[in-house]
This record gives sequence, structure tokens and C-alpha cells, in this order.
Amino acid sequence: MVRLKTIMAHTICIANQKGGVGKTTTAVNLAAALSVANKKTLLVDCDPQANATTGLGIDKRNINKSLYHGLIGQADAADVICETGIAKLSLIPSKTDLIGFEIEMMADADRDKMLRELLAPCAKDYDYIIIDCPPSLSLLTLNAMTAANSVLITLQCEFYALEGLGQLMQTVKRIKQGLNPGLNIEGILLTMFDSRTNLSNQVADNAVKYFKNLVFKTRIPRTVRLGEAPSYGKPIIFYDPSSTSSKSYLDLAKEVRNGSRRKDKFVIL
Ligand code: ATP
Ligand code: MG
Repeated sequence: MVRLKTIMAHTICIANQKGGVGKTTTAVNLAAALSVANKKTLLVDCDPQANATTGLGIDKRNINKSLYHGLIGQADAADVICETGIAKLSLIPSKTDLIGFEIEMMADADRDKMLRELLAPCAKDYDYIIIDCPPSLSLLTLNAMTAANSVLITLQCEFYALEGLGQLMQTVKRIKQGLNPGLNIEGILLTMFDSRTNLSNQVADNAVKYFKNLVFKTRIPRTVRLGEAPSYGKPIIFYDPSSTSSKSYLDLAKEVRNGSRRKDKFVIL
């Protein structure tokens, strides 16, 4: 008898407790780039700021049930997943009410596993699930890391970029030792890279020196178009398909699909 193995989505959370380092830009554009490569993708907006939701052009006023309702058990994944207008790309949207999750779940013993439980029934329906994290190592980020197969860390090519990375790695290690033994680092992505500045090149050199092959070959350039795209509610590959920024996220999607960094034996955790 031939047994067919159910393929589960590869779930990646995009994290860095530093604010404004390109997490949401990467979550939206990586998710879109995977979907145009014919991979069924679910983007989960795990940040009460809801930037990934608006970045995809979804009007928060039209959302009845969001991630918050799914996490507190008032809705199933199927009830909170919405279509985005982009083929093969779905979204679990967020609203500011997600702030309440942390306080309301404080006394619940399973508070770290709520996202994993919400996503489990739909993991077989997707090739990739991309989770956009808030800028903190809060309960929402812990939920994202517990639900994920891997963590993609965005590193902005600015001064202090590497600061705080130790704490982030420790958090990943702690989750791996306890709640989620299968957790890996997907890779470290250099964002807002400007090859004309010494600072960008220094950050890139240091990242490669410390994290070696864990650093993605693709670097996301700092461009005006990437900053503009969210205000049109479009990923860069639809806003400006021929731009270098669009190419950079398509290249990143290729690297992720290839999975070479995950297979790398460089031990960090
Ligand atoms: P937060 O921590 O607040 O969630 P974040 O890490 O998700 O922030 P983004 O929202 O992706 O960061 O980016 C911060 C700002 O920088 C946004 O205005 C975004 O449009 C802009 N930005 C991100 N990446 C680039 C880039 N490569 N080039 C130019 N602007 C960018
Ligand atoms: Mg963000």
C-alpha cells in the first residue's frame, strides 16, 4: 500500500526585537515573492501595529475577526484567514485589539502555544507560512517562535545593528530547548543595505564574520520604492516589478526555497 505523506507548510517567523529594521517589509515581500513562485503562502500579521495588514492593502475597518480572536479561541483559522487579491497569498490580519492578548493570557499555562494551535489545522493547506513579529521579545514573539520551523532575522545595515542580537539568539535557544525543539535559524537578512556607505559595508562584513553562511547572499537595498510601496497597499513585485528591490525579494524567496542555510552545519544554537 502506498502511503501519501501530508506535506506541512514550512513556517518562518520574521523577528528582531529592534524596531524599524525591515521585518514587515520582508514578511510582506517574501510572502508575495513565494506566492508568485506558485507556492501557496499564508502571511500572519502577529503585530498589533498591523503594518503587514495595511501593507497588503487590507482596510482594517472591514475586518470582523482578526488574529486576536483566533489566539483567544473565539475563532478558528478558517474564520480569520482572508484573501488578499494576490493569487496564492492569504492573510491572517491584525488589529490593535491584539495588544489585549498578552494581558488576557497572562495566567494561561498554554499561553505560548496559542498560535501553534491556531495554525496546526491549516498547515497542510500551504507551502509556506510567514509570521511578522512585533518589535519586542514579548508573548506574541514567543508564540511566533513556538509555531515556527525557523526564524529569519532582519538586520538593518546601521550602527548598533548587531547589538541585541545576542539576546535574540538566547531567546531562540530557550524556545528550542523547551517549547519547540525543531526550531532553526532560517538565516540573517541584511536590509536597507547601501553599498555606497562604509557603514553598510562594515555591518555586512561583521555579520558575515560572526554568522558566516547563516547570512543570506541576497541583500535588500535601501530604496525609495520599497518605502513607498506600503502606502499603495502593494508588495514591491506588483508596485514596481522591474526594480532592483523587487529582484532582491525574488532572490531571497529563491534562497528560502532552496533552504541551503538551514542545511548548513554552522552551529549557533
Ligand atoms: P517595526 O519594528 O515597527 O515592526 P519593522 O522592523 O517591521 O518595524 P519595517 O516597517 O519593515 O520595519 O520598515 C521600517 C520603515 O523602513 C518603513 O517605513 C519601511 O517602509 C521602510 N523600509 C523598510 N525596508 C526598506 C528598504 N529596504 N528601503 C527603504 N525603506 C525601507
Ligand atoms: Mg513591523
